[in-house]
Amino acid sequence: MPRPVTIVTGGSRGIGAATCVRLAADGHDLALGYVSNSAAAEATADAVRAAGGRCVVVRADASEEADVERLFDFAAAELGPVTGLVNNAGVTGPLTSLADARTEDLRRVLDVNLLGYLLCCRRAARDMAAQGHGAIVNVSSAAATLGSPGEYVHYAATKAATDALTVGLAKELGPHGIRVNAVAPGTITTETHAAMGDPDRPARIAALTPLGRPGEPSEIAGAVSWLLSADASYTTGTVLRVAGGR
Ligand code: NAP
Repeated sequence: MPRPVTIVTGGSRGIGAATCVRLAADGHDLALGYVSNSAAAEATADAVRAAGGRCVVVRADASEEADVERLFDFAAAELGPVTGLVNNAGVTGPLTSLADARTEDLRRVLDVNLLGYLLCCRRAARDMAAQGHGAIVNVSSAAATLGSPGEYVHYAATKAATDALTVGLAKELGPHGIRVNAVAPGTITTETHAAMGDPDRPARIAALTPLGRPGEPSEIAGAVSWLLSADASYTTGTVLRVAGGR
């Protein structure tokens, strides 16, 4: 059996990086997309190789069609036919009520989290349908159902859209042998909280979480890897919540 070839967008840091390393350990070769932090991307690529996977690194803004096409083209040329996609690259913008949000931040969150997922899913659908098999995992968020009032309802809305995309595309692509699922993390310890202006957020949210702590990126990576694996061969169109009970 050839090794699966999986693209992970936003694979340089956080959940995406942990997912790359876990997938390599589980037998995948990886194409790792990132947007600006080349040092982090190269460090994750080294960790992937240490875990036994081949890895190519591509600077590709997931919200740009040409970048997405180049990411898929390069992955296939260097590693072979792409069999898996993890749509993970995501941004929140600063924490704010909608009333105080800036249009440029709303637009960026929509462009990366929604248009980016659509562009990657579209290319994966085309390539995987031609092969007759494949699997996609969209990284959603518990925010899709919590709504995130006062923090980022616009971000939550893109994640609810991710869940709808997952359900619909699973139905569209099931007849082509392609499975489409989502993982909806709760609050996970990554740099995203500092980037949105609240580094202590995971510790604070822990008090609202039945398991009493934030999650670790590796705990999301395990769920993603399972959904891409043969063990999930009859699982499609599902949103797997990994949120500590929240
Ligand atoms: P993170 O630590 O901030 O990392 C973000 C990753 O996405 C980085 O690899 C970054 O690349 C990349 N990225 C950002 N914009 C991009 C773009 N336009 N094109 C390509 N790559 C881009 O984020 P995270 O916390 O791991 O979040 C990953 C995913 O999980 C997101 O979809 C997020 O919404 C979701 N999620 C996170 C949490 C949480 O609590 N952390 C909870 C629920 C859902 P650079 O390194 O180049 O900047």
